[in-house]
Amino acid sequence: MKIAMIGTGYVGLVSGVCFSDFGHDVVCVDKMPEKITMLERGEVPIYEPGLDAVMARNVEAGRLTFTTDLATAVDGADAVFIAVGTPTRRGDGHADLTYVMAAAADIAHALTDYTVVVTKSTVPVGTNRKVANVIRATRADAEFDVASNPEFLREGAAIDDFMKPDRVVVGVESERAKQIMGEVYRPLFLREFPIVYTDLESAEMIKYAANAFLATKISFINEIAALCERVGADVKSVAKGMGLDGRIGNKFLHAGPGYGGSCFPKDTSALARIGQEYGVPQRITETVITVNDMTKRRMIDKVMDLCGGSVNGKTIAVLGVTFKPETDDMRDAPSLTVVPALVGGGAHVRVVDPHGRREGEVLLPGVDWVEDPYAAAEGAECLLVLTEWNQFRALDLRRLAGSMVTARIADLRNIYSREDALAAGFVEYEGVGRASIS
Ligand code: NAD
Repeated sequence: MKIAMIGTGYVGLVSGVCFSDFGHDVVCVDKMPEKITMLERGEVPIYEPGLDAVMARNVEAGRLTFTTDLATAVDGADAVFIAVGTPTRRGDGHADLTYVMAAAADIAHALTDYTVVVTKSTVPVGTNRKVANVIRATRADAEFDVASNPEFLREGAAIDDFMKPDRVVVGVESERAKQIMGEVYRPLFLREFPIVYTDLESAEMIKYAANAFLATKISFINEIAALCERVGADVKSVAKGMGLDGRIGNKFLHAGPGYGGSCFPKDTSALARIGQEYGVPQRITETVITVNDMTKRRMIDKVMDLCGGSVNGKTIAVLGVTFKPETDDMRDAPSLTVVPALVGGGAHVRVVDPHGRREGEVLLPGVDWVEDPYAAAEGAECLLVLTEWNQFRALDLRRLAGSMVTARIADLRNIYSREDALAAGFVEYEGVGRASIS
């Protein structure tokens, strides 16, 4: 199969690289020349574990190339994937389809033989039909079908998720398109990963429904966590006791500072918006969004309370700012709410993050960056765990506490226990969903 991948971000690059690893010929396209230059030099513009090695071996094998020239990539391709961004549109919470529609028009101009134009970006119901209309309006003679193939990979585990998916969802309307999509995913089909074929609208809905459901689990446990703190329960035990029930499952039941990232915030917002547009309000999703905003704000209060009601003039060491570990992605990370509030409250904030600095330096003005958690904690009055990078999970608590002016810890990912922290010399420990015992 000859594949063109439009957009080389977290999804496009991983998908393109993995398709080439399946044995397909893949050309990855991006409109940002600096990204393509980096890729041509063998450098990966994002941090995604393992991606560099898979990319290198497929470039070496001659199956994977990069270009800014969309027309050459599309020429003769069996399938063209649209994997451009669909951020929240300013003002109304809807998904911004500008990039998708621009890509569709560019693809239309470049189509030669029959091609399946596949939308991998997360898009509202009806978008695939709009993509088809754009292509038809641009090139009445084009021979093509559209397909919806939403992506479910998680940043930080993207290669594994792509190579061993729980399922692949393909929305198609013609046998011809179905057959080509089947060929594209044949290596996964052979290894018996389920492929769900459906209509375009259902495929589009599956992605939003799945993300909204996962976000719901997170907001649910975060709300339970707030109650646990009041009633004297421990949310970790509660989540474990709930999650062992097979009908509930233990995933996405970790209480924390609220969900962030490039998907949940924008996709829940878009789903709520779609519901309003169709006159079927998505009340659960709307509430999930509200609870998430409240959760993030509750974290600010937590740190303020821990610091005696004000952070003014206090030094706070922040461990982790990316929205989760193993990625450099900062989009909608809880740190973007919490850290500016601390800086605004007059705190001196020192930040350490294994891969967040490049983005973080732009997004978090007024903080000092250090390379090492012990250096961050030196002379600080509060240690704030915001992202549970592995590097932060087994720190020498005694050494940290010993170097701080006031050894307090706000462990917003519950990676330490109160007992261990207090035994190591911390005077106060505050987790999420764990009753405070002074
Ligand atoms: P991204 O912002 O990282 O990458 C998008 C890329 O597309 C950018 O490099 C941009 O320069 C390029 N681009 C935009 N218009 C283009 C055009 N006309 N021609 C060529 N290149 C173009 O986005 P992402 O995180 O990879 O997300 C892409 C889509 O996948 C979104 O709809 C997102 O919701 C969805 N998704 C993302 C994830 C994730 O974990 N990031 C997971 C599943 C689904």
